Amino acid sequence: MKFGGTSVGSAERMRNAGEILAGHAQHFELAVVVSAMGGVTDMLIRAATQASAGDSEHWKNVRRELARRHREVADQLLSAAEQSLVLPRLAAQVSNFENLCSGFSLVREITPRAMDALSSLGEVMSANLMAAILRSLGIAAEAVDSTELIVTDDSFGNASPLFEETTAKTRQRLAPLRKRGVIPVITGFRGATAEGLCTTLGRGGSDFSGTIVGSALDADEVWIWTDVDGVMTADPRLVPEARIIPGISYREAIELSFFGAKVLHPKTILPVMKKKIPVWIKNSFNPSCPGTRIVPSASDGPPGVKAITSLSKANLIMVSGGERLSFGQLASRVFTCLSLEDITSLMVTQSSAENVLCLAVHEADSKRAKTKLEKAFELEIIHDHSASIDVMPHIAIVVAVGEKMKGTPGISGRAFAALGRRAINIIAIAQGSSELSISFAVKSSDVKEAVKAIHEEFGL
Ligand code: ASP
Ligand code: MG
Repeated sequence: MKFGGTSVGSAERMRNAGEILAGHAQHFELAVVVSAMGGVTDMLIRAATQASAGDSEHWKNVRRELARRHREVADQLLSAAEQSLVLPRLAAQVSNFENLCSGFSLVREITPRAMDALSSLGEVMSANLMAAILRSLGIAAEAVDSTELIVTDDSFGNASPLFEETTAKTRQRLAPLRKRGVIPVITGFRGATAEGLCTTLGRGGSDFSGTIVGSALDADEVWIWTDVDGVMTADPRLVPEARIIPGISYREAIELSFFGAKVLHPKTILPVMKKKIPVWIKNSFNPSCPGTRIVPSASDGPPGVKAITSLSKANLIMVSGGERLSFGQLASRVFTCLSLEDITSLMVTQSSAENVLCLAVHEADSKRAKTKLEKAFELEIIHDHSASIDVMPHIAIVVAVGEKMKGTPGISGRAFAALGRRAINIIAIAQGSSELSISFAVKSSDVKEAVKAIHEEFGL
């Protein structure tokens, strides 16, 4: 069971998480993964950034706040005996924070490696608290640092797990605890290289930690406790009638999280795919709601669209290679350039007669993408007036997802008609040959109407 930041965000939330665990510990053997208390990771990263910019005051305030928030949980929930065990461990992390930040402010620099050691301190603190809370409820539990379990490559800030090494290490480290019936409470978000250097799995990566550990232990199920009732048919802020989907497939979940559904980290499903372990999304604020079950393949439900997601901060980039480049040359240069810059393209279309490649990128990447592409096509742009890089801002990508759209004729027709009736102009369209999703680019100002129109059309 993995608990996200809001599910451990305060003494009250931690007590609630402890009670949920206590209830299930009677029926199942559990391993627990926790995020940092809500907001803590942001606070740590901001403090480090300010410290490296030469601000020597800000991080001292953060230090106090960090100590206060965790201390408050200990004060409210732990016995004197547990406090005397846990408070020194919390204090050790606070001084760790202090040492790192004063180092950053001295050298005016943060390396990605040092940032990982710092940004994942919140998980160490919350795991120690959560283990102590369980012990206070009479359940044997012990905090475990995931740097002792999860082995990763050395891409600091966005590391990938090495599954074989991780499985061996996790099983070995946790075996003695399991034998004694002790629940491990594991830090989310972090891992370590084979040499033992701390890494992180990317922002929001504790979901990923949950399935990595679940897979290493051959868990029967992975439960992700969050602050919503499950995966929804659409963002309820756009579509008030949106409802919880009881079951979706791995591929649908991956598709939805890639296109901006906040409920899951996009890599979460990868570790459980081979072993076909079901993943549940559950609400710690509403534990009796069954939530959403994510399973290997979608078997139930009528064919068609299952959910709609949207990404409202995108730009379209149109690259014209001019007369001298073939489309193949154009495409290969565009994608080489973007991949070297680590820029994700959200959707791609080709109009080959005009020799134009159109792609959508996150708004935040757009300026960098344009600059780099202009550099890559510098000569063409100088010599050929028909070569150009143009950016269309304020674009939203609306994505209709459903594994059973495959082989069902008329789905895109219905979606187009629904948008047409509301006079929403579709700027670009892409459908993968897997027919798992159809993406439409529309004006940002049309996104709400567009999502609503499709949601209604498919009776979601
Ligand atoms: N605490 C980390 C973050 O905020 C990881 C997580 O919560 O999933 O990104
Ligand atoms: Mg999260």
